[in-house]
Amino acid sequence: MPDICPNCGLPTELCVCNVLEKETEQRIKVYSKKAKFNRVVTIIEGIGHDDLERTAKSLKRILACGGTFRNTIIELQGDHSDTVKKALISIGYKESNIEVA
Ligand SMILES: [Zn+2]
Repeated sequence: MPDICPNCGLPTELCVCNVLEKETEQRIKVYSKKAKFNRVVTIIEGIGHDDLERTAKSLKRILACGGTFRNTIIELQGDHSDTVKKALISIGYKESNIEVA
């Protein structure tokens, strides 16, 4: 007899409850990278779609920089990898969910 997940009733090898739980928990990843023309940009990944525009606007205001957003990615001009975490926390994101690479 295979083990049955008490949550969804499927055998544990087919169960995706743990995976789903991980996906709904917000993980935000921050890193900087070289973009075109030797510019450096700061990437913020994992912001929920509904919060993307609001968060991008706030970050641009707090960090006084330009930036764009698409899908689940915010791209800020310049290297803000050391300050963007603090900015995210100041607008309500949980420190433990933010990972700076
Ligand atoms: Zn399950």
